[in-house]
Amino acid sequence: MKFIIATNNAKKLGELKRILNPLGIDAVTAKEVGVELDNVDEIGTTFAENAYLKAEAAFKKTGLAAVADDSGLCVDALNGRPGVYSARYGGENATDKDKNNKLLKELADVPKDKRTAHFTCSICCILPNGKKITAEGICEGSIAFAPHGNGGFGYDPIFMYNNKSYADLTAEEKDAVSHRGKALRMLQSKLEQYFNNNQ
Ligand code: IMP
Repeated sequence: MKFIIATNNAKKLGELKRILNPLGIDAVTAKEVGVELDNVDEIGTTFAENAYLKAEAAFKKTGLAAVADDSGLCVDALNGRPGVYSARYGGENATDKDKNNKLLKELADVPKDKRTAHFTCSICCILPNGKKITAEGICEGSIAFAPHGNGGFGYDPIFMYNNKSYADLTAEEKDAVSHRGKALRMLQSKLEQYFNNNQ
């Protein structure tokens, strides 16, 4: 079965495809089936609500199974910010580098033991019959004092998982421990269960 991945973020798309395809899910973009997805206003107050809004829009437009992810970085010293506003932190036009610098500045006086943070990934999948399946993954870590590494995207260079930043990890190492990897593996197991019970 084809699953439309409801995102226009090229880096996130690559990561979703990389994890979903080996799980036996034929993950394609809307473009690959000749449909242009509209941008969805992320007006939800939770990751789960926003993932649903994105999946629903793609499902309605294509009629195919759709998978969307909403994710973000929650920093304890900032009471969970930027959280669901991670993409808009620093303004609509801020680059990843701007966002990372803004976060490092906000945490300038915060000592190492108080720099704890986690990434959350909420996945929503809508099947062709309208059935909604959700999954979530969390990865605990901390915020570095300066950017590290060359891989990944977004906040990867400043998010430390053990002694390495997400951007120091290879793609496979990140997938094995990341919030998105965990959420997608949960999705896979929920899909297997659903298909086993509904054949
Ligand atoms: P959204 O889920 O498209 O709303 O984007 C969430 C925000 O969190 C974006 O700014 C992403 O760059 C960032 N983000 C989501 N997942 C990751 C990740 O795995 N690494 C680094 N940044 C991420």
